[in-house]
Parts: sequence; C-alpha cells; structure tokens
Amino acid sequence: MLFVKVVILGFVIVFSRATPGKTDDAFKNWLESFFPTAKEQGITRKVWEDTFADVQGIDEKVLKKANYQPEFSTEIWDYIDARVNILSVERGEKMGRYYARTLSSIEKRFGVEKSVLLAIWSMESNYGAIFEKPERLHYVPQALATLAYKDPKRKKFAETQLVAAVKILQSGDIDKNQMSGSWAGAMGHTQFIPTSYLAYGVDMDNDGKRDIWNSIPDALATAANLLSKNGWQSGKTWGYEVFMPVNEKQYRNKTKLLAEWEELGFKRPNGLEFPRPGDRAEFVMLAGPAGPGFLMLKNFFVLKRYNNSNAYALAVGLLADQLVGSKGLVQSWPRPQGVLSITEKMQLQELLKQKECYSGEVDGYIGPETQRAIEVCQAKLGIAENGMPSKDLLLLLQR
Ligand code: CA
Repeated sequence: MLFVKVVILGFVIVFSRATPGKTDDAFKNWLESFFPTAKEQGITRKVWEDTFADVQGIDEKVLKKANYQPEFSTEIWDYIDARVNILSVERGEKMGRYYARTLSSIEKRFGVEKSVLLAIWSMESNYGAIFEKPERLHYVPQALATLAYKDPKRKKFAETQLVAAVKILQSGDIDKNQMSGSWAGAMGHTQFIPTSYLAYGVDMDNDGKRDIWNSIPDALATAANLLSKNGWQSGKTWGYEVFMPVNEKQYRNKTKLLAEWEELGFKRPNGLEFPRPGDRAEFVMLAGPAGPGFLMLKNFFVLKRYNNSNAYALAVGLLADQLVGSKGLVQSWPRPQGVLSITEKMQLQELLKQKECYSGEVDGYIGPETQRAIEVCQAKLGIAENGMPSKDLLLLLQR
C-alpha cells in the first residue's frame, strides 16, 4: 500500500504548490473565446467554468518544455540502457508479484501478456515513480490550453485534447484536483492523452470510474485495451534478435516469412529456431550492420501504436522479455570506444560510494551529482579532475 500512498502524496504536493498569481486577462479571454468550440462538442458552461476556476494564467513551464531542444540526439543504446536495465527489471518483477492477480485478470480479458503491460508501465511512468516528482506534473486542462493559446505548432492537437480533457472531467471519472499529466497532456500511470483515454479507458476495478491516475488495474487494462484493439496477437512475441548475412542492406525494411528469412541466412542466436516459421516479419536494423538485426512481427507494430518509435517498441519488447527470464540481447550495440554501458555506469557509482566520494543512488544515471563525485574521487586519486565517467576511471577504481 505504500505505493498508493506515494502516489496520493504526489498529488497532494502537486496541487498544494499551485499558487494563484495575477490574473492573465488575455488568456482568460482566449478561454472564453474557445468555449463555443467546446460547447459544440457537449461541454456544459458549468463544467467549463469549474475546470478553469482556479487557473489564473498560462503554465509557463509547459511552454518552456514545449520549446526545449535537446542538444544531442540520444543513441539507441543510451535510450535502451536508460530503460531496460537491472533496476527496471527488478521493479517490474516486484510489481509483477504485487499485482499478480490484477495482471492475470487483464491478460485473460484482453489477451495481452503481463510482462508487456509491466514493460509499458515501466516505460511510461517508471511504475508510477513519476508521481514522486511533482515538478514534472501539470494540470492537464491548463497545460493544453497553454499550448492551444501560445504554441501555433501544436494548436490543433492541443485544442482537440483540451476538449477531450474537459469531457473526462465532465464524465466524473476523475476529480479536477487529480487530473495531472505531462506538459503535452499524457496522463496517469500509462500516460494516455485525453482522446486515447476516451477511446480506450477501462474501469477494470469496477468502481464506476476509469481512473488511470490512482487505479493500477484501470491504468494497465487501458493500456491492454489499446493494444488489443489495435491487433495485438496473444501468445506471440514482438520479434526476434537475429544475426544477419553479409548482404543484409538490400533486405532492410523488407517483409517476408520467417522461413524465407532463415533461408536467406538470418539466424537467431544460440541455435534457437523460429517457433512459427509461417509468420511474416520485417527486417529492421537500428544501429547499422555493426549492431544487432531484428525481425519484427505484427506485435512490434502494435506497440508502435502506443508510441510511434522503433526505439520505444524495442525497449518495451526487450524489457518484457527480461521480465520473463531472457538475458537480453546476445549481440552488442556498436558503442563508441570508452563509452560505459549502464552496468558499468552503475559499477562506477558503486565504487565511488565505496571510496566515499558519492552518496547518491546507484542508478546508472550520470547527472551533476555523480559528475561532482567523480571530480572528488579524481582529486583523491591525484588525476585530472574532469568529472567525466570513463573506462579508464572505472579500471583505476577497480584496482
Ligand atoms: Ca475504476
């Protein structure tokens, strides 16, 4: 039950922090001018007014996040490392045990495997841990109204989502004080945007509300419903890691039967066979010929309906596999020399701890705290203090 408490605590923190600032009349006028559009789609005056009763102006942080351009694009191995690692597997196993009955009923009703649901939960909200970081949460109607009013690029999306969000409030599924989400309106444990929530929301625990914010059964069943409605094939995997023949390039993004791929020289590691050679699969490379190859089945593309990214769908698939005992990929990603893997980053943090340079979490995330710890340790070792994690430093500390 601690988990639920944490979630509730999160909400308490979020909304007790909302401070009524000066009223932004221009924004209030925009809301007023938008009401007829909402009304046309069934929103009542009372619900509209109530939704924005405590909102004085735009959410500045939403605009900041909407305009944020990451300096570097993330490499596939960094993306996967950050999401599929010993921590996400351990938490998933723990959550799997804790919610075993819920997961079984959802699997029975929607035909989506428990491990896949746990992996999505991990990817979307780190099993609900995002609610412990209230600075990352926003009041969804205000966030969407901010985007609709101030961000021309997202105006159409935000207007549609705004009306859907108010519809959710009007339905009574969630109280406005709990309607938190990301800057772009992704809500609850499984991060549904309002229109997807309206399309796929499920009241799994039968309390009359589709509550993806506080009810784990509702949140996971809603995710299962989305996958099921988009063609999830029960009992089948997402795809296979394969060794590629040397002439792999010509086959990129082609679709063939697994049996045909096998004849062309595509092989699973460790002598494993394709259980259903008659299934169709697309050949996908995510890091060029030096990385692992993949033959992707229908379910991979269903996962992309959740989030239209190959890296996302692969991370869900790999994490789900590891939650049922897979040891992970056999082939390595083509990491540049000297770059630490997630396991090595965690080893480094552990060693920094042992040397009493670091007191933070061992999570493989090299943020400012770890960088400072590296500097302290480098000073102790009498080497150049640059705060950079490296193989050389790791080796030095291991001695
Ligand atoms: Ca419910």
